[in-house]
Amino acid sequence: MIQAKGFAALSAKTPIVPFSFKRRDPRDADVVIDIKYCGVCHSDIHQARDEWGGSVFPMVPGHEIAGVVRAVGPKVTKYKVGDHVGVGCFVDSCRHCSSCTQGLDQYCLEGPTLTYNGYEKDKKTLSQGGYSNVIVVDENYVMRIPSSLSLDKAAPLLCAGITLYSPLVHWKAGPGKKVAILGLGGLGHMGVKIARALGADVTVLSHSDRKREDALRMGAHHFISTRDRKVFTEYANHFDLIVNTVSAGIDMGDYFGLLKVDGTLVVVGVPDENLTFHPSSLIGKRRSYSGSMIGSTRETQEMLDFCAKHEITPEIEVIAPAQINEAWERVVKSDVRYRFVIDMNR
Ligand code: NAP
Ligand code: ZN
Repeated sequence: MIQAKGFAALSAKTPIVPFSFKRRDPRDADVVIDIKYCGVCHSDIHQARDEWGGSVFPMVPGHEIAGVVRAVGPKVTKYKVGDHVGVGCFVDSCRHCSSCTQGLDQYCLEGPTLTYNGYEKDKKTLSQGGYSNVIVVDENYVMRIPSSLSLDKAAPLLCAGITLYSPLVHWKAGPGKKVAILGLGGLGHMGVKIARALGADVTVLSHSDRKREDALRMGAHHFISTRDRKVFTEYANHFDLIVNTVSAGIDMGDYFGLLKVDGTLVVVGVPDENLTFHPSSLIGKRRSYSGSMIGSTRETQEMLDFCAKHEITPEIEVIAPAQINEAWERVVKSDVRYRFVIDMNR
C-alpha cells in the first residue's frame, strides 16, 4: 500500500483536519499521481457537511486534481512518469452500460465511482479525494493537462470547467445565442469564459451588484443584478439558454420568465433544498427545464484542450492546506474570487 497524507472531515459537524490513510498499490492499468494542486468546489462543502444526505466518513474531499505522474502500472499506455495529468469527479464506471458505451460515463447506470464520498468497485474501500498528496487512478479516468496550462490553474477545470462546458456545448451556446450564467462563483465564472469563447452573447445574472466589474472583465457582454426585481419584467422572454450554477435554493419561476419561446434553463447547482416553480412559467412559452452533471472523461479531455487553445483559465486564489476551513467559510458567503486552489506542497 502507498502511504498518503491528506485533510479530512471526520464527521459532518467537525472541521477539516490532517489525516493519514493508504492508497492501493497500482494495478496493471493504474497511474500513481503526485497531487500538486486541488481546487475547492462548493460540492466539497455540501458533502462534508452532509447537506445532500448519505455522506460517508472519514472523507478526504477534492475532485479538481492536478498533478504529476509518479509511477505507472505495466499495462498503462497513455501516460508516463513526469506527465502532467488531472482527475475529476469520478475515477471509474461500469464500462458496459448504455451510458458508458455511448461515451457518457458520467451517467453510468450503475453509478460512476465518485472520486470521494463513495466506495471503490470492491464496495468496501472508501474512495478518497484530492485534498491529499497522492492518488491512484485507472488510466482511463485520467486526463492529460496540456503543457500551456499551469497545474494550479488547470485544477478547477476538472470540475468547474467541465460542468459548464458540457451543457454549453450540448445546448449549442454559440453565435446568435443569448446565454445567461446564473451565479458568478467557481462554476459560473468558467461558464462566462467558455460561453464567450464559443461565440455566444453572454450575460451574468448575479444576486448583488458586487461582481459587475469582474463579470465584464471576464468576458461577459452584460451584467444583471437580480436584487432589483424590475429586471424580471425588463428581460422577460430574452434568453435562449440559462445555466443555473447557484448553490442555494431560489424560485425558478422567476428565471423561466427570462427565457424566450422554446428557451432552456439547465440547472447544475445542487442546493440542499428543493427548487420551486409554478408550471405556468414553463407552459406559457414551451420552455424546457433540464439538468446536467459534470461531463464524460472524453469530453473533459476535449474541454481541457479547448481551454488551452482559447487560453481560458480560472481566476484562482492559492491557499495552504491550513487555510481550508477559512476558505470554506468564504465560499459559503459567496466571497470567493473565483476559485480557491490548495497547494498540496505548502
Ligand atoms: P460557488 O463558488 O459557491 O458559487 C455559487 C454562486 O451562487 C455564488 O457565487 C453566488 O453567485 C450564488 N449564490 C450563492 N448563494 C446564493 C443565494 N443565497 N442566492 C442567490 N445566489 C446565491 O459554488 P460552485 O463551486 O460554483 O458550485 C455551485 C453549485 O454547483 C453547488 O451547489 C455545487 O454543489 C454544484 N455543482 C454541481 C455540479 C454538477 O455536475 N452539476 C458540479 C460541481 C458543482 P452571485 O454572487 O453571482 O449571485
Ligand atoms: Zn465540483
